[in-house]
Parts: sequence; C-alpha cells; structure tokens
Amino acid sequence: SGVVVGVDVGGTKVLAAVVGPDGTPGTPVEVPTPGRTVGVDVLEDALDRAVTLARGERPLIAVGLSAAGFVDRTGDRVMFAPHLPWRDAPVRERLSRRWQVPVAVENDATCALVAEHAWGTARGRDTVVLVTVGTGIGGGLVVHGRLTRGANGMAAEYGHMTVVPDGLPCECGGQGCWEQYASGRALVRAARAAHLAFVEPDSSGAGSNARTLLEEQCDGDLARLDGPMVTAAAQAGDSSALEAFEVVGSWLGAGLANLVAALDPELVVVGGGVSRAGDLLLAPAREALAQHLVGGSHRVVPDVVAAVTGAEAGLVGAATLAMRLP
Ligand code: BGC
Ligand code: ZN
Repeated sequence: SGVVVGVDVGGTKVLAAVVGPDGTPGTPVEVPTPGRTVGVDVLEDALDRAVTLARGERPLIAVGLSAAGFVDRTGDRVMFAPHLPWRDAPVRERLSRRWQVPVAVENDATCALVAEHAWGTARGRDTVVLVTVGTGIGGGLVVHGRLTRGANGMAAEYGHMTVVPDGLPCECGGQGCWEQYASGRALVRAARAAHLAFVEPDSSGAGSNARTLLEEQCDGDLARLDGPMVTAAAQAGDSSALEAFEVVGSWLGAGLANLVAALDPELVVVGGGVSRAGDLLLAPAREALAQHLVGGSHRVVPDVVAAVTGAEAGLVGAATLAMRLP
C-alpha cells in the first residue's frame, strides 16, 4: 500500500522519511542542502532524490514539505527563504506535478509545531511558542489551541527579530537578527571564539601542545567545526564548548523573554538540531528567560522544554499536514 513522505528542507540538510498515520516516522534519509546560490532545479532535484530514497519501491500517496522559509497563506508558494534559493516560487505546483501526488508546503518551524501539537509536548495546550534552533531560528505559534499563521502566512519569523541594532549581518539581508546570536551557526562561532581565547599563548609564550576536546572533534581544523561537534565536545567537558552553550543559551533566553512578554504562552518548546543538546542549551536559556522577563516574580514563567518529536519534528508535521489534504 502507499506511503506519505515528509521532507524537511533545512539550511544545511534535507531529511525525508515515511510517516505513519500515528505520526511515527521511519528512519530518515539525509542529503545535503545544495546551498542558496544554486538554481531552484538543483534544490528540487535534491528533494526528489530524498523522496525516492525514503519511499523505496512503495507507491506515494502524498508529500509534506517542511521548508526553511516564508510560505504564503495558501501554501502554494515559498515567498522568501534566507538560506535557500526559492524566491516567490510556486513550489507546491512544481512538486505535485513532478511527483504526481498532492503536496502540502509549510514553514519548517510551523511544521514542527504541528507535530508537537498533534503528537508531542504541546498536545492539548492552549497557547504555545515554539522555536527551532538549527542553522537559523524558526518559529511557530499556537494561540488558544489554533495555529496562527498571520495575515500573509509569515507570522512567527522570530529568528529575524532585531536584537542588536546594526549587529551581525544576516542571510536575510538585515543586521542584528536573533538567529545570528542564538542558532547553530552562532554556537559554532561562539565555540571558535572561546577556543581562540583559550589557546592564545600567555605572556610566557608557552601555549599547550595538548589537543583540546574541541580540536579532537574537528581534527584540529576549526574551519570544519559544526554544531554536532560542539555538542559532542561540550558533553565531553570541553570548556570552550561549554562556554559557547552558555553564551548561546543566554541569547536564546533573552529573546524568549521578549516572545513571552508579547504572547504570554503557557509553554515554550525548543526544537531543531541544537535542541538535541538538551539542558546544555536549555538551562542557560531558562535562566536568562527568568532574568529578563517583565514582571517575572509576579507571573508564571512558562516551562521551556525540548521538542519530543526531536530533529524529525519538521518532516513529521509536514506529513501530518499532507495526510489532512483533501
Ligand atoms: C527562516 C525561517 C525558518 C528558520 C529555520 C529562518 O532563517 O527565515 O523561515 O523557519 O530559518 O529554518
Ligand atoms: Zn535575519
């Protein structure tokens, strides 16, 4: 019998898996995202490869696409995507023609919230803020039990809130966006900076020859460092990696304090690749949230929890939307 496939198109990788009617994903396949400067065809070919690998020989019933970008209200177009080549692109039509099945298209973080609301931590909850911490920061919002997509489908683009006027340049074209300070990329940047400060030889000129745990992760080549390596190094006790999580977790919590001030959610869910680090990220985030939240000692500070559908949240949510297609 046929299968529904969920595809998550992130800034770094494309994940695809068959998703069962109860929201359980099969083992995901992974292909690298071709980058944002390639043609749209190159990206869509990569999606096609991922779907083919995921479905195997089984017939396809529908596909759900979780896209790291701004999806319009109708789910037809990806209007803009800081990390991907789609601009005002009729993705739903192109891909449903290609695969000859109905395709649902939605923002990746909104998909993650669909998954958490249907099957995970946000089940039955009234007002929920979700952020995904990956290459960038994505956002989703449920208010009074309903998914909020905004007037144009572009609500909850929290990653591009300006947190530092004239701050670091962002792939969206702006400056000082939150995702430049609290994403996977920010984690890598913070780890490199902490590492350099750490290995800088002191005034005696005697630097240590011993490799740090962070250097071991990337074979001594800091240019190759990625998020999972920083997480592994931190878990092994590397002081620079631990410091990076403190820095990035604090930025995460400070931004969350703004979201909680604006939206008063009962729960904050954190998904995305970096959330796999668990309390390494969430503990400093909770602390900074409590510290910065207006009226903090006169209100309930919402719980900050990791998404239970984990790194597969986006594709599970997209497939869930595809199953609901008429
Ligand atoms: C994009 C969002 C996306 C997020 C996570 C941001 O840069 O603007 O649309 O949800 O990255 O992938
Ligand atoms: Zn931005």
